Amino acid sequence: MSPNCSISPPHPRICTSSRRPPSPPSSRSNSPTSFPPGFVFPPNPPLNCPFRECVGFAEDGMPTVSDSPVRSDDPLVEQVMMFRADPSSPCAHCRKHGNRCEFVESGSPCPTCLALGVPDCRFADPDYFLLNLVEYRNRHLHDKCDELVGQVNNGTLDASLFDQAYHRIEEEFYRVAQGAIVRFGITHGATNDLTRRGFHLLALSVDDPEVLAQLIAACTKTGLHPDVLVDMSTRLRDLYLS
Ligand SMILES: [Zn+2]
Ligand SMILES: [Zn+2]
Repeated sequence: MSPNCSISPPHPRICTSSRRPPSPPSSRSNSPTSFPPGFVFPPNPPLNCPFRECVGFAEDGMPTVSDSPVRSDDPLVEQVMMFRADPSSPCAHCRKHGNRCEFVESGSPCPTCLALGVPDCRFADPDYFLLNLVEYRNRHLHDKCDELVGQVNNGTLDASLFDQAYHRIEEEFYRVAQGAIVRFGITHGATNDLTRRGFHLLALSVDDPEVLAQLIAACTKTGLHPDVLVDMSTRLRDLYLS
């Protein structure tokens, strides 16, 4: 791992500072286990507190958090992609227009925004994905740390191996996180602007301006995003001028 990140990321940082030094939790220090002299439990990762250095940032501004990502179709990656800190909230566009909204996975617009050609659905926003990824990490490591503390307390894990075990869990999480970052890029690239591109090609395939004008008129009643209609209208203008 690189000790420092000198590049300023355009997205919220999944990791900015090194892990905070541990302080002994008072409730655990009296545990009846045989800790080595001077041993203190690492604290649970504080919620909303970044504690990990980045390897770097890719050209698209996404962080690189592991050199050995798991496959992007790994079930744990799917779990990360499906996670939202606010699981019931619709995207802003659907809320504004009273549309039904469905979260498919991070990187993909909701089906309604996808169909209407909305260019900025929140569910496809890299910043939204990274915020959820940070929240997932905090909860995951928090839970895993609790599990390890429990194992030390019940004697199934030697206290001297705690840091090693926790570090392994951290490394494994960041491999999954990197797989999720890769998958986000793939999904985002495949779905981004899909409807506008589709209607653009459709408009290009129409050579009769009257037919295209009727098509545009019909589309205006469907709630298609104005960007899509403008694109088709440009083709109509070109047909009239040709
Ligand atoms: Zn929506
Ligand atoms: Zn949406």
